[in-house]
Amino acid sequence: MKIAVIGGGPSGSVSAALFARDGHEVAIFDEGSRPEIISGESLVPGVIPIFRRLGIEDQIAAISLLKPSVTFIPMGGKKIEFRFSSLPKKFPRYAYNTPRPALDEILEQCARGFGATKISKRAELLSRGDQIELTPPSLDSVPQWNGRQPDFVIDASGRSRVSSKLMNIKAEIGPRRDVSHFAHFHGIHPEFPSGQVIINRLENGWSWRIPLPGKTSFGIVLDRLAASNLGDSPEARLDAVLKNDPLLKAETFEAKRISRVETYANYQLTSTRGVGANWACVGDAFGFVDPMLSPGILLALKSAELLHQRCQFNNLKESLKSYSAEMVTNLNAWRYLIDFFYSGRIFELYDQGLDFQRKFQNLPIGFIDAFMTSNLASMASGFTTASRFAQGILGFAERYMLENRAKTSEYAIA
Ligand SMILES: Cc1cc2nc3c(=O)[nH]c(=O)nc-3n(C[C@H](O)[C@H](O)[C@H](O)COP(=O)(O)OP(=O)(O)OC[C@H]3O[C@@H](n4cnc5c(N)ncnc54)[C@H](O)[C@@H]3O)c2cc1C
Repeated sequence: MKIAVIGGGPSGSVSAALFARDGHEVAIFDEGSRPEIISGESLVPGVIPIFRRLGIEDQIAAISLLKPSVTFIPMGGKKIEFRFSSLPKKFPRYAYNTPRPALDEILEQCARGFGATKISKRAELLSRGDQIELTPPSLDSVPQWNGRQPDFVIDASGRSRVSSKLMNIKAEIGPRRDVSHFAHFHGIHPEFPSGQVIINRLENGWSWRIPLPGKTSFGIVLDRLAASNLGDSPEARLDAVLKNDPLLKAETFEAKRISRVETYANYQLTSTRGVGANWACVGDAFGFVDPMLSPGILLALKSAELLHQRCQFNNLKESLKSYSAEMVTNLNAWRYLIDFFYSGRIFELYDQGLDFQRKFQNLPIGFIDAFMTSNLASMASGFTTASRFAQGILGFAERYMLENRAKTSEYAIA
């Protein structure tokens, strides 16, 4: 089969690698121009088995910092550390913080190693009914296809969402109206354990500190209106948060920006249809939930694996239907979990757990705490996010442990 992959980000390269490994003729289109910094630097442990299956974990480790845990600072003075060491032993108990352009390069090399061809051009597409075709100039850029259209098109174009735009397919828009600004810094984050990601709750949003080799990625996610009140430019807003947030001010006073500031907005989008007659979306082109908990790269890689597993060219319609249903389940599962963090319920549960331990300190209830922590860690690491059992445990805890707590948490992120 001839397969055109539109986009050479993580979802495109891994899709290309897997289909090329099966012997298909795969061409990856990507303009090749990458911004200086790209979001997707903090990975979750769920990506590790995928790197291992592709045989690239050592290469990823060589460009990354090991990420042992994430600390949430939901309120001044309070720090809650989620350690991956609390994961069940069957899962890898670590992740990586990885500079994005370097990650993309390794994934692209992997795809090329399996025989995919990189076309360093933007793909232009045409629709014929529900079929996607390449325009004649784009088709000419794959001379080995001798003018024959691809049998299958994988839309890995990220937030450009080329197939949805071509087919006029609407996106479901998430509930938050945030904007994110981020950049790389020196002089941030010296006092936390190496590799630990720090999430601070801010007055109207939250911030991340992702340690990378030799630098730190610092980003803010703020309600759009609140962000505009902080300054006219992304640089001014980032500086304002660093200077005015009491905790960040104390911990990042030596911060020196070493990259330009990137901005992302309107990113909570999920296509209402991610597959068609001869095409399927992977990664952000199918849907992106939110930067909270960093599920983006995992979902990008997982969608590529899932498409490869489900796709049967002799039964395309049904097999793509099953792929699409599973993708929707995965995206909804992350939405469910992420909502616990934005609403503050996860921190309320943590407080309740501590109260229980104090109240019943003479009873052997430590195993309940260990079980709940391990369940949450497995979900947030991407191993059991969509498991009905894991969700049931979290839902049960919410219903019975928080029944007497105020409906709106003081930890909620505005
Ligand atoms: C604020 C913010 C912070 C984030 N932080 C994290 C994080 O810490 N960890 C994490 O895992 N995820 C994070 N993400 C999400 C992550 O960045 C994305 O989920 C991930 O990049 C998706 O990969 P992808 O391959 O689907 O798309 P992309 O990485 O966007 O790649 C798409 C590629 O397609 C190319 N393209 C588009 N149109 C065409 C065309 N017509 N022809 C050829 N090429 C085309 C583009 O140039 C691009 O190279 C964050 C997202 C946001 C918004």
